[in-house]
Amino acid sequence: MSDSVLVIGGGIAGIQASIDLANMGFQVYLVERSPSIGGRMAQLDKTFPTNDCAMCILAPKMIECYRHRNIRVLSYSEVAAVAGELGNFEVEILKKPGYVDETKCTGCGECAQVCPVELKNEFDQGIGNRKAIYKPFAQAIPNIYVIDKRGTAPCKAACPVGLDIQGYIALISQGKFKEAFHLIRQKLILPATIGRVCTHPCETECNRGKVDEPLAIAALKRFVADYELDTRTEEIAPAPRTQDARVAVVGSGPAGLTAANDLVLMGYEVTIFEALPVPGGMLAVGIPDYRLPKEMLKREIEDIKRLGVEIRLNSPVGKNGLTLDDLWKEGYKAIFIAVGAHKSANLDIPGEDFEGVYHGVSFLKDVNLGKKVAPGEKIAVVGGGNVAIDAARTALRLGSREVTIVYRRSRREMPANEEEIVEAEHEGIKIQYLVTPVRILGEDGRVSGMECIKMELGAPDASGRRRPIAIEGSQFTIDVDTVILAIGQSPDLALLPEDSRFQVSPRGTLVVDDKSLATSMPRVFAGGDAVLGPATVVQAIAAGHRAAIAIDSYLRDEMIPPEQEPLPITTIEDVDLRGKEKKNRVAMPTVAPEERLTDFREVNLGLSAEMAIEEAKRCLNCGVCSGCRECEKVCQAKAINHEMKEEFLRLNVGAIILATGFDFYDVLKLGEYGYGRIANVITAIEYERLTSASGPTYGELKRPSDGKIPSNIAFIQCVGSRDFKNMPYCSSVCCMHATKEAILAYEHHPGTKSTIFYMDLRAVGKRFQEYVTRAKEEYNVTYIRSRPGRIDLNAADGNPIIWYEDTTTGETKTFEAELVILSQALVPSKGIEELAGILGISLDKYGFAEIPDKLLSPLDTTRPGIFACGYAHSPRDIPDSVVQGSAAADRAAEATTARTPSFVAGGV
Ligand code: FAD
Repeated sequence: MSDSVLVIGGGIAGIQASIDLANMGFQVYLVERSPSIGGRMAQLDKTFPTNDCAMCILAPKMIECYRHRNIRVLSYSEVAAVAGELGNFEVEILKKPGYVDETKCTGCGECAQVCPVELKNEFDQGIGNRKAIYKPFAQAIPNIYVIDKRGTAPCKAACPVGLDIQGYIALISQGKFKEAFHLIRQKLILPATIGRVCTHPCETECNRGKVDEPLAIAALKRFVADYELDTRTEEIAPAPRTQDARVAVVGSGPAGLTAANDLVLMGYEVTIFEALPVPGGMLAVGIPDYRLPKEMLKREIEDIKRLGVEIRLNSPVGKNGLTLDDLWKEGYKAIFIAVGAHKSANLDIPGEDFEGVYHGVSFLKDVNLGKKVAPGEKIAVVGGGNVAIDAARTALRLGSREVTIVYRRSRREMPANEEEIVEAEHEGIKIQYLVTPVRILGEDGRVSGMECIKMELGAPDASGRRRPIAIEGSQFTIDVDTVILAIGQSPDLALLPEDSRFQVSPRGTLVVDDKSLATSMPRVFAGGDAVLGPATVVQAIAAGHRAAIAIDSYLRDEMIPPEQEPLPITTIEDVDLRGKEKKNRVAMPTVAPEERLTDFREVNLGLSAEMAIEEAKRCLNCGVCSGCRECEKVCQAKAINHEMKEEFLRLNVGAIILATGFDFYDVLKLGEYGYGRIANVITAIEYERLTSASGPTYGELKRPSDGKIPSNIAFIQCVGSRDFKNMPYCSSVCCMHATKEAILAYEHHPGTKSTIFYMDLRAVGKRFQEYVTRAKEEYNVTYIRSRPGRIDLNAADGNPIIWYEDTTTGETKTFEAELVILSQALVPSKGIEELAGILGISLDKYGFAEIPDKLLSPLDTTRPGIFACGYAHSPRDIPDSVVQGSAAADRAAEATTARTPSFVAGGV
């Protein structure tokens, strides 16, 4: 026989049972699923019929319970499994991660002060707000904070670098632009650049897009990055060199720059070898200035150089320069190949050799490097990706009159960014879909036209897109003098020694190990477009990070650290949309098409600080905790631990007491009462929080619609209870509860008139009838025996109008109040069915514990050794719950020790 007892539920019944058992000498484990014990009683302002302050009675008991040497309170925990039998139960407890070390947290609350995420406070029934790091109420016990992490926001899950997007957006919404910048910069080395050119898969997945429009995530990133660059005062200091090894990086695109940045921060000496006269890869020589001003890119690359990364320009590795062998000889211990995909694909159609045929990336490279490029008047660009759109818009800026893009699939399949396609159309570029060239026509060796054929879409191909099929006989000719081919690229792997053992894919890309990015050559790693083929900047950055971690692990002869398992992705159904109004995204100002085509000035002008804050406030905070880590910065006790994992504890106990209390019936289901539709119809527990000094209004009784102090309040009883269509039983406490609330209204504002609409008045406790009489005689409370059927709104003043049947006369009447309080049914606590399954006990048809022998064993559930008390047992008030908690303690003691009830102190 174990002399331990498990009590499930830290409300007043569970607390009482625990204290009694602990005083008898039992070891008690009190498991509470929320962060604090106290239960529903902690939410109450006063208790009937004495009108004592609920917290004044409860708090000493909570403290006694928590400090008792025989009680171990396991808050934020749940029962996961139960095996065994009376006297010897094996219990598994799941301790949920609160991400705050209980042994260190002092409860000071500095963390909550700086947390930028606000959400509805469950403790205040959603009337007030709390932060993502919180304790439920001021007197919470244990006095520690927890972080509410509900899951991974879909934006973060979609981002190849796993950027804490919700975090920086939350910081922007608070005007904390610098903090937002530093959060971004931890995972993204070129935020101003990425803010301009990212393909933003995060926006595609943004849950807000299911409400109205996705957040303008890239624009927000750009805003903080530009802001920081413009207002920066502190110098970037070189990272200290702590490692002996040197690393060579080949290529200074986003992949190479990221790996170099990370490795330098890890303490290595890093040199980037770049073939071109400028650093930045495709960011510098592919993407045109009107999308990404080179000055901006240069400033961001300067930051990386300041950290200590050396970039050697005009230094190709390969046939025309240093070889990989030379790099080994120079003493580099690892090499990261990040040479991108710069070799253009050919169409293999007649006429590709004519003068006037360009390849997209070389055309853009020449323009970006300042070479003189003069395309003709009428241009056809072949392709549907970003290169095609950039080449077309660049040609317009170079003076071409007519630019047409021909793409072999439809708009739906076009891989270019949607915004880019739209801007291209605004600038007058025509796009011909489902068309492909079959021949380039020429005269005197120069392009004179392009013969095309129409296509239709067949079954999906390997890329998942529908395969284009030529329509026989549909050829036609376009009148053009220049053709730009932008149909794909592959890496130029001329740098590899001819006899090398590098594995190359059929697409011409380097083959690497998925996890380590190691090539088939020892000590050589590769990533970015060189491995993926033409992809995106953010994917290249992600590869750079992974390569740095892998190279570091290799050089230190360690395993690559495992990645943290992300929490499940939150869907729109998981998000609390209360109070979120529909609002489209803030539009970024742009230069008008007629002005912008005269040169390469930047088209998108960025958001102002006000616009950024307004846009950031649209965020739905899907993951709740945003991952901004501001709490970590201010916690002097160093208690925050974002990497905390759930834990399982195994206990051996002799008996179990179920004291899981109640929840509130969802009155939204009862549309006739107007809850959720009429602002001044609220529930009894909401009213309780409004009158409580610790509530969101500090006890000021104001009605929701206009903050007016109501002088005429109506209470409707049995909302959902004693109703065969909903909960047929009596919730047991509402008649007294409403009477108490009416008395409180009068005490707050003497003269307040309260009217209680009841079915029949149940005042069957000690001094309850006297309490009702006092309410009538001293507190201006009227009781109307009735059945309310509907509540309408008086639109002129926001007053609810109650339609009811006077059950004493049968007449239908109306009553206008300034505030209506619904006494909603109380139901067994959420999750009781699952818990009952774990405990192996039966519930009655309403979800209360099934008690087979109510007369002789009134607390015994269907499984020997498991006892029920409080509201989990059946509807009852506080005094009854306390008595039953003590009784359950006795019963557990008796059952585990086989002692008689009379022997045990404080018997039933
Ligand atoms: P790169 O950026 O190509 O860098 C590779 C570098 O290696 C280059 O500087 C190259 O000169 C150097 N190098 C090559 N061989 C050698 C050698 N042997 N020795 C030394 N150095 C060498 N992506 C987006 O996300 N959004 C966009 O809007 C977008 N628009 C694009 C528009 C165009 C026109 C193009 C071409 C690409 C665009 N991309 C876009 C794709 C994006 O630019 C690439 O995915 C990304 O730059 C790949 O990064 P990387 O570091 O792997 O390669």
